[in-house]
Amino acid sequence: MLIRNVEVEGLGRADVRLGAGRIVEIGKRLTGRDELDGRGGALLVGLHDHHVHLAALAAEAASVRVGPADVGGPDGMAAVLRGGAPGEWVRAVGYHESVAGELDRWALDTFAPDRPVRVQHRSGALWVWNSAALRAAGLDGDGRFWRQDERLRGAVPPAGLDLRRVGLRAAAYGITGFTNADPHLGEGLAEMLSVLPQRLLVMGADDAPVKLLLDDATLPTPDELAASVAAARPRPVAVHCVTRVQLLVTLLALDEAGAVEGDRIEHGSVIPAETIPWLRRLGVTVVTQPHFPVERGREYATDVDADDQAHLYRCRSLAEAGIPLAAGTDAPFGTTDPWGVMRAAVERTDREAVARRAALDLFTGEPRLPGRARRLTVGSPADLCLLHVPLREALDLLTADIVRATFVGGRPVAPEGQGVSFGSPRVPG
Ligand SMILES: [Zn+2]
Repeated sequence: MLIRNVEVEGLGRADVRLGAGRIVEIGKRLTGRDELDGRGGALLVGLHDHHVHLAALAAEAASVRVGPADVGGPDGMAAVLRGGAPGEWVRAVGYHESVAGELDRWALDTFAPDRPVRVQHRSGALWVWNSAALRAAGLDGDGRFWRQDERLRGAVPPAGLDLRRVGLRAAAYGITGFTNADPHLGEGLAEMLSVLPQRLLVMGADDAPVKLLLDDATLPTPDELAASVAAARPRPVAVHCVTRVQLLVTLLALDEAGAVEGDRIEHGSVIPAETIPWLRRLGVTVVTQPHFPVERGREYATDVDADDQAHLYRCRSLAEAGIPLAAGTDAPFGTTDPWGVMRAAVERTDREAVARRAALDLFTGEPRLPGRARRLTVGSPADLCLLHVPLREALDLLTADIVRATFVGGRPVAPEGQGVSFGSPRVPG
């Protein structure tokens, strides 16, 4: 296939020939058939979402949202939970205590006593079930389940996961690859995800990075974590660090075990200034969510320790220190739109805002070395994102509607004119 008249960074207007899944030629006035007129729009390497939870994202289509911005308060939440037919399972996501306080089975019963309801906290770490749900599944207790997704999975009717829809929606954003960041490699997960048209890096599978999950309440010692790191070798590790102490334990453990290329800090929610030279010395990549201080600003203002406020989701200071940096949407816990993440990264009002080009590069890194930008060169995979506009205009806008077509391995995934349907059929589960 020949894509004619596109803007290739560093070359200006050019034609790009694809063959056998790769870029085979870039030049002026190439001849050939099967042409697409790029009309001067930029041709970019496809975006890679470096941290996403694909099964949860697919399940969200069959869910209702009960976050602060979705329901406002307790009355709104009750209305949403009672929206479906009585008796039908309700899967609600995005909850935060600012809606109706700490939840347990009895609190949930006051909202919807007549149907099984399960509510996921916005962090993804906690599920709360009401009494009807516990009864239906033969479970007992206060209905609060902390990090027990594996155990709960068999207790609910299976949700129909529409991964095809997830893939098409992502392709409409120009995404040609995902790194799935679930902490446990569920049985059959890698196979289930393989229906996606995008390239996949599934943490825990094969030689992909191994995700190590930390919780302050069950924090390992640096020695213990170093042993987990050593057990993961030769694979890199991706350590979930959302608090100051989690980062410190991780850095001590990496010091002890020795860091390897590809090791990464997921989230890096709190990175105290004094640890920046340490991160750099270890050579670890930070995969961050610059949109969280925007999406969650109100709650962070009250929930986050005053001492930590200045160190939230750093971008600019890490980049300036030479630390490899990339971003993931963390969808469904964050937006699915990488362009929204880029806008957040440039429009933040703290000192961590980055330049527009740097924001784009948060999503153009190598899947295994997310801080190393891919470039459009002969021989590289034809994973491409064609824009309606030249790069300069694209950077001014940073909006998803500038994506015209997306190619994975040279195959159009979201070709122009085939609008992606966002209708969400209700699926039980
Ligand atoms: Zn995550």
